[in-house]
Amino acid sequence: MSAAQPQYRRAILKISGEGFCPPGGFGVHRDPLDRIAGEVADVAALGVQIGVVCGGGNFLRGVNSAQELGMNRSAADYMGMLGTVLNSIALQDALQRRGVEARLQSALAIARIGEPFHRERCLRHFEKGRVVLLAAGTGNPHVTTDSCAAIRGVELEADVLLKGTKVDGVYDDDPAKNPDAKLYDDVTYEQVINGRLRVMDIGAAEMCEQYSLPVVVFNLFEPGTLKRVVQGEHVGTRMGAAG
Ligand code: UDP
Repeated sequence: MSAAQPQYRRAILKISGEGFCPPGGFGVHRDPLDRIAGEVADVAALGVQIGVVCGGGNFLRGVNSAQELGMNRSAADYMGMLGTVLNSIALQDALQRRGVEARLQSALAIARIGEPFHRERCLRHFEKGRVVLLAAGTGNPHVTTDSCAAIRGVELEADVLLKGTKVDGVYDDDPAKNPDAKLYDDVTYEQVINGRLRVMDIGAAEMCEQYSLPVVVFNLFEPGTLKRVVQGEHVGTRMGAAG
């Protein structure tokens, strides 16, 4: 297979909320938004079916807001889910401005903005070459969009979960604090589930392990990396079964 051929037929792409703004920023900013849209468009042009799960941490995370505002945790989580909707609307619009067909499906009912999440309809959009924005996470509090990405990945029978972050992959220490931190090429589900490596929520990693859904953690801020991953280059860190 030539390097230009996509390695995956269908992928769930998880984009952290922090991908939509400059480091430490808040909300959606034009340049990062347009860059992400460009990266997704490039991969869609390869013929890969893509469901995008946007995080909402550039607006708020329920666990933090519940503490800071003295709120009920579930209420704060619903606010967080709405943050993911904001990012999804922005990304849908940015994709459409590039001529990429994109549909928004939401786990919370917001009929004027998108369809309710529906597995069969989502698969139909994929078949028609549309990118689907999977907004509002799972629709349930007390989990994060990592869990949503894992669940949708399994449910929609994706070949891979692509997790875009602000670093190159999974390290043995925090690369922002330790310049000698080592980047792993591969990690096992077990290493993540046992809490030795911070990659994603443990529940999400368990789901990926149970259904043998491979995960690739890559740098969302490094232009072209998403396409390289999809074309099968070993960039970032792969999470899978041992051996
Ligand atoms: N959230 C939730 N249920 C979900 C997905 C998200 O309650 O299924 C809430 C939760 O409060 C979370 C916030 O939405 O903190 C934003 O999502 P996440 O923290 O995953 O965003 P990221 O860190 O990826 O930007």
